[in-house]
Order: sequence, then structure tokens, then C-alpha cells
Amino acid sequence: MINEYQIRVTPEVAAQEDRLKNYLGDEYGLNPSDIKGVRILKRSIDARQRQIYVNLKVRTYVNELPTDDEYQHTEYPNVEGRPQVIVVGAGPGGLFAALRLIELGLRPIVLERGKNVHDRKKDLANISRTQQVDGESNYCFGEGGAGAYSDGKLYTRSKKRGNIEKILNVFCQHGASTAILADAHPHIGTDRLPKVIEAMRNTIINCGGEVHFQTRMTRLIIEHGPFLPCKPAKLERTIDHLDRVVGVEAVSANGQLEFRGPVILATGHSARDVYRYLAEAKIEIEAKGIAVGVRLEHPSKLIDQIQYHNKQGRGRWLPAAEYSMVTQVDGRGVYSFCMCPGGFVIPAATDKEQIVVNGMSPANRGTAWSNSGMVVEVRPEDLENVKMEEFNNVKIENKALQVMAFQEQLEKMCWQQGNMKQTAPAQRMADFVNGKLSYDLPKSSYAPGLISSPLHFWLPKMISHRLQQGFKAFGKSAHGFLTNEAVMIAVETRTSSPVRIVRDKETLQHVQVQGLFPCGEGAGYAGGIVSAGVDGERCAEAAAQYIEQCKN
Ligand SMILES: Cc1cc2nc3c(=O)[nH]c(=O)nc-3n(C[C@H](O)[C@H](O)[C@H](O)COP(=O)(O)OP(=O)(O)OC[C@H]3O[C@@H](n4cnc5c(N)ncnc54)[C@H](O)[C@@H]3O)c2cc1C
Repeated sequence: MINEYQIRVTPEVAAQEDRLKNYLGDEYGLNPSDIKGVRILKRSIDARQRQIYVNLKVRTYVNELPTDDEYQHTEYPNVEGRPQVIVVGAGPGGLFAALRLIELGLRPIVLERGKNVHDRKKDLANISRTQQVDGESNYCFGEGGAGAYSDGKLYTRSKKRGNIEKILNVFCQHGASTAILADAHPHIGTDRLPKVIEAMRNTIINCGGEVHFQTRMTRLIIEHGPFLPCKPAKLERTIDHLDRVVGVEAVSANGQLEFRGPVILATGHSARDVYRYLAEAKIEIEAKGIAVGVRLEHPSKLIDQIQYHNKQGRGRWLPAAEYSMVTQVDGRGVYSFCMCPGGFVIPAATDKEQIVVNGMSPANRGTAWSNSGMVVEVRPEDLENVKMEEFNNVKIENKALQVMAFQEQLEKMCWQQGNMKQTAPAQRMADFVNGKLSYDLPKSSYAPGLISSPLHFWLPKMISHRLQQGFKAFGKSAHGFLTNEAVMIAVETRTSSPVRIVRDKETLQHVQVQGLFPCGEGAGYAGGIVSAGVDGERCAEAAAQYIEQCKN
């Protein structure tokens, strides 16, 4: 007999199957030894009160063994000889696009500028060792994209549940723990994600697709109308002649290469050369708002004490505590972003002369620190009032690149403040709020090292002032949060794309050119692993429709 129950239990009971069986036995008149299996379908922690509970939806198997699948399996057919689609970028957007293309009977050719997920690891270790960043292989570039050596949090605010569940199920099919289907805030962990990504690549190759590493797209191959073999897609804007993307040019160790087919462009938010190329080629892009700030790192025990209302911290049965903070200061949002309990702060720059920080955590979330981005919303119009001279006299030729230029200059300033290495400028939290330089800094997870710096002084006022006010508000709502035990590490700028590659809402093609599907975070249509994956699937479906149209 199979039954499902919604229960509320202590963390200790939730974590141990035997205790859970006893609880279910008592509560529902079952003999615990008859319960042959308990599957957790949904799990969330309720830490609002001193007594913490775990809400569970469980399925019990009484006098029978669980035989039903733990996740939904997707069939991937062989696509050798089928029409091909070029997927540029092997981040979550590109990988999920490629897998969905296979499902739809099309052959993906994936081009990735960075190395495979395994070889990439050495270049990440080198950042701390040599203080140098490899411009083609780093925390943002390489197989798995920015998501590979990330936190692997799979939580998204998106409402399209069906699509999200599909993404989570595909992750499970490729080796992720099925706990991600149950947890309210699912998380794979930076130590487990690479194996999952490798398995996704193997599916693509085993089905007849191609994956080319260290192969960087340099330009799109565009043919001009009116000799279209297919009906023009329904476009939002009209231009003089209709252009059509029919492939890409790329460079690799083997020299210049050409790949033919419609293009899903999933190059992420850090491919600044791609944005510059699009601007030069007059392929429409526009500036987009971002959020800018710092990584804030507390001892994880302190966050556990605050969030679990307990001096002892989280104890044996609870995970490292999360938090989410948000307020408004002078008309702009100030909020925590991408919180990593029990994690690390990492150097996420993609080129020389930049410092960019981000966070990640292993599956067990077991380090001594908990960090989060603490960022301030920046809209394109806010930059009208910022003298760009302050940022090294940058000349912005194209307004669409204005937010990106701001981001770039801030990262460069940060690198200069950090002694022109990856040593990041940092300040204790309460010192920052009080406008005081920190005499010393606490121990930190940031491997390249920290240097004390007056962030309150050199960060743009529109950021530092709002962060100071925001921190005061957060300190009031969470007693102990505003403390000199916490350190702010500069600068967090890559929260989302500074550019939108404008696409048609219905066909998902670029508004000017056919056969080009801007995809994922870099196109400005996703923010996070799951939403990039969902967008990748949508772009694959749109590309399939386009190929179908071209046949008629
Ligand atoms: C350290 C870190 C931690 C993060 N943690 C989380 C998290 O826990 N949860 C979450 O949801 N999100 C997290 N994110 C954000 C998440 O990783 C991104 O939102 C997501 O990866 C975006 O997916 P994407 O496929 O659109 O782009 P990306 O992942 O950026 O992938 C783009 C790919 O395109 C490649 N590329 C770029 N230009 C070219 C070119 N010219 N030719 C060929 N290839 C090219 C790049 O090398 C890259 O691999 C994190 C990001 C970082 C950096």
C-alpha cells in the first residue's frame, strides 16, 4: 500500500529514517516494521520560532518495496544526420538547449571557448597560486559555464513550475541527488556539479551531437535577404532588408573554423567581447540594469545562531543556515544575493586587471563561513549622474555598453585597490558603516587573500551610501548581523547581464536577424542556473520551429 502524508517533525526525526518510520507509525496507526520505504517528496525548514520544525511531504510504502522511478526520465534519440543547430556556450543555457534539441530530433554542435570541466579546475586553482586569471578558462568560462564551479543552488523565483521540474529531473538523470526534487531550496554543491555536467556532455556526444572545447565564436555568418528559403518570422521590428544568421566563425587551436546552422547564442554575462562584436556589427543590443556591491562573509556559526535562535548554532541535524535580506534605500533595492551558507568567497574575474568576487559552497555546506552578495540595484539612468571620469576616463562609444563600462571600470578600480593582484580590498562590516578603516581583518575563505581598504571611501557613493543604510536596517531586523566579525570583500558586479540582446517575445529570434536565438543570462533573459536552463530549452524549441518553417 502506498500513501502520502504531510507532516511536521523535529529536525532530528526528519534526518533519520527509523525515527521517521516510528513517527509515522504512531501518528497513522502503522506498524513501523511494515513500512518498507519512506520517500521524501518535499522538504522545507520552518525556523520562524525558537522550536524549529521540518515540514515534509512523504510517501510511505507499506508491505511493499518502492519500485516507482525517483525522477522522470527523458529519452534522448540518436540525431546523427539530422539538421544541425549551433549552440555557442556550454553553460546551463547552452547545455539544456543542446539536450532539448536532441529530444526534438536535431543535432547540436556546441562551441565552448573554455576547457572541459575537469581541465578547467587547474586554472581555477592557479588564480590563488599565481594571482593571474586565464582569460579563456576561469570561474565564468569553460564547460558548465558560470554555473559549474558555483554553489549549484537550484532555487529560482520563476513561476513556471513545470519547466523547473523538468530541469531538476534532467539534473537527476545525469547524476544529481534526487534530494533536489524534494528540497524547498535545492542545492547540488560545487564538488558534485562537475560530474553532472560531464554526464550531460556525454549524452550530447553519445546521441550524435558535437562538443568543441577551446573554440571561441568570433563572428556570426549573416546572409542578406531577399533570397530567403523560408518565410520571415513574425518580427517585432522591421528593417530595410531581412538578415539571416546561417552560422558562426570561430577560432581554436586548429585555426579558423566555420560551423553552419541557426545559432543559439548562450555566451553568458561575462563575454564582453561578444557584446562589443554585436555592437560593432550593429546587431541590436540595449543597456540593462544590474546590481553592484560586495560579498559579505560572516562566521557560519554566527549566522546559524541568529537564524536558528540558538547560542549553540545549528547542532547536529540542521544544515548551515541561510538568510535573505532586502530593503529599499533612496528608491533603489539593497539586497542579499546568491547566499552561500558554509561556503567560500571566490575570485570570479574573467580577465587581467579585474577583481570580481562571487560565492560557492560544497554539498555539505561545511566550511566555517557563510557569505552572500550584498548589492545595490543600478539602473542605466543612474549612470547619467555618475561622472565616468571617476572611472578612469572611459569613453563609451555605444550607449548600450554603458552599464558594462561602469561594471568594467569598477572591477579595474578594485584591482588597483587590491595591489594589482587578486588580493581583494576588504573592510569589516561595522567599520564600513561607521566610515572607519579596519586595522586588521578577520580570517576569510577568500584564497587569494584580503587587503584592508576604505570601501566606504572609494566605492561610488550611490553604492556605499545605500549599503551603509541597508546594513543598518538588516542589523535591526537580525540582531547580531551588523558586526565587525563580518568582512565585506569587494567587488561583486556580475550579478546579471549589463546588456540585453533584444529578441522577439514569440519567436525568441533576435528582433532584426532571423536564425539567431539570444539565450540565457548573457542575453538578459535569465538569472541563475535553473532559469538559464529553462531558457535554453525554450530557445531549442524556437530553433526547431524555425527549421520547420524553413522547410515549408
Ligand atoms: C561563482 C558563481 C556562483 C554562482 N552560484 C549560483 C548558484 O548557486 N545558483 C544559481 O542559480 N546561479 C549561480 N550563479 C549564476 C549562474 O552560474 C548563471 O546564472 C548561469 O550559469 C548562467 O547560465 P548561461 O548558460 O546563461 O551562461 P554561462 O553559465 O555564463 O555560460 C556561458 C558560456 O559561454 C561561453 N562563451 C562565452 N563567450 C563565448 C564565445 N565567444 N564562444 C564560445 N563560448 C563562449 C563561456 O565560456 C561560458 O561557458 C553563480 C555564478 C558564479 C560565477
